[in-house]
Amino acid sequence: MTGKKIECPAECGMCCLCQPEVLPEERAFFRNNHPDALVKSKGPIPYFALALKKGRGSCVFLQNRRCAVYDHRTAYCRQYPFHLYASDRIHIELDLSCRGAWYGTGSDAVAEAKDLVARADRRIVAALEESKAVYREFYSNCREAGVYQDPSMLRMSVSENISMFTDLAYLSRIMDLSQIEPVMSLQGLQPETRLDMDALEEAGRDLAMDSMSSDDPLSVPVYCDSGWNWNMFMAVDGKIEWMVMDDEGELHHKAFADAADIRLRAPDASGVRVLADYVKVLNGRDSFMGSVFALVDQNGYEDDLANAYYGCMAVTVMDLLWRMSMLDHFMGIGCGEDAVREAIIFYDMDRLDAPAIGAFV
Ligand code: SF4
Ligand code: SF4
Repeated sequence: MTGKKIECPAECGMCCLCQPEVLPEERAFFRNNHPDALVKSKGPIPYFALALKKGRGSCVFLQNRRCAVYDHRTAYCRQYPFHLYASDRIHIELDLSCRGAWYGTGSDAVAEAKDLVARADRRIVAALEESKAVYREFYSNCREAGVYQDPSMLRMSVSENISMFTDLAYLSRIMDLSQIEPVMSLQGLQPETRLDMDALEEAGRDLAMDSMSSDDPLSVPVYCDSGWNWNMFMAVDGKIEWMVMDDEGELHHKAFADAADIRLRAPDASGVRVLADYVKVLNGRDSFMGSVFALVDQNGYEDDLANAYYGCMAVTVMDLLWRMSMLDHFMGIGCGEDAVREAIIFYDMDRLDAPAIGAFV
């Protein structure tokens, strides 16, 4: 990982819409000074977290988009936009939903990441031990089922064929072949000659709509635009409602759209360049590979790892392009480099949240 340190623009605060976990050693400060701010999270494994305004807005400590307990903010607040993913090793991944990650002008990001690892040391050791065992079992199940492929070879084949994952005709072909070939390969792959745009549009729409179809505002995707508005999109019965959440957790209606009216846009040449960079990022992420493994595990080891990996990469790009098309429909962002960047800012947090066989520490 290389790059510049993240410097938060004063108006952002987007990451404070995620409810941070409070680690056992951090609880005393909140219990003694702000007992009402400590809540038990929802979900199958409850943990202590910070309360949200109206139970759905930003963290209660976000005041005028600044943290009111900055020196006592949680480890999760400190480490964002970096995520520590435990697979059979620890991987630091950068959340590209953070606008600061795109405009960072500070010092060395590698130094910040190393410091982060040093501070999370005890948690990392425990998580790594657990995740290594999970990965060993996963590889052994794959070999037994005859679906194993070397992950580094899969990554190499994607990196040698990045342009296939930015072109609709290839994406369509990859999605088809990953379903029907016993063991698919990218070598010699030809693009779809008769591209069925309706089918592609439907594929992207189904994926994106899935993530927006929740009546819980805490679970729907958030997009922090360049004017620092927190945009939310909720889908009900094929209709998408665009809302903006204010600093007090109130939702304000902006517009409705029929999902079927949103036309899939292909990125232009400048957009393709940004998309290609994002495919490279995904291809290098252990959490992306971990989410593919989770799918293989969930499907009972029926899919060859090559099919699952190439298919997931293609489907991910389709989801992203449909979201770009939706932003264009509502906001007129176009399909150039700025539009693809905005779509990544919108999409990446959800991507990193996908179920995976490893875990974020
Ligand atoms: S999303 Fe990024 S830029 Fe915005 S407040 Fe969080 S860390 Fe800073
Ligand atoms: S504690 Fe501070 S940094 Fe953390 S989520 Fe709350 S307001 Fe944001």
